[in-house]
Amino acid sequence: MTTPATPDTEQVAPRPYDGDTALVVVDVQHDFAHPDGGLFVPGGDRVVEVVDGEVRAALDAGATVAYTQDWHPPTTPHFAKDGGVWPVHCVADTWGAQLHDDLLVEGPVVRKGVDGGDGYSGFSVRDPVSGEEEATELGRLLDEAGVHRVVVVGLAGDVCVKETALDAVRLGYDVELPLPATAFVELEPGDGDRAITELRRAGVLVTGRGPAAAGE
Ligand SMILES: [Zn+2]
Repeated sequence: MTTPATPDTEQVAPRPYDGDTALVVVDVQHDFAHPDGGLFVPGGDRVVEVVDGEVRAALDAGATVAYTQDWHPPTTPHFAKDGGVWPVHCVADTWGAQLHDDLLVEGPVVRKGVDGGDGYSGFSVRDPVSGEEEATELGRLLDEAGVHRVVVVGLAGDVCVKETALDAVRLGYDVELPLPATAFVELEPGDGDRAITELRRAGVLVTGRGPAAAGE
């Protein structure tokens, strides 16, 4: 049997949405959220419905909702076959790159990785060779909406969700991550727990229950 996947037994209740809040839905795409996807995140399929609930709650409260979409060229140093670490995923204009069929999409979609960059954070893209970073339009969208608080959900909790949340903290937002609305890819075992620890240390309010233990 497995031991509990997280040492974080404390549970913080999520705060309600309001007009000053943006919900950022990260990479809920077939390749991550569908069992047939190229980089299926365990539990990613279950996250879609939870995320839809967050989208509804956000819209009902007058919050801003924005989405990110990983969008890669067929060849990029982001992929293991080209020298990176990830299986091929979210290649532009493929089924795998589409936002999940069941995802409620009610807001702008910000693509990342378009020019072959490592699009981990929704706020920036990084050239995988030079390490140079460039902002996406997400920050501008949130500024224009007068947002002070950002709730980050989607996939994967230990990669793009984490980097988006950390960037949001750096940009001065009050940041929250509801754990039921994410899942962890765990390229290395324990990445999920390490991500939660890192997020909490950075000041992200992590709410709800920890990553689902294997075989839950
Ligand atoms: Zn990617």
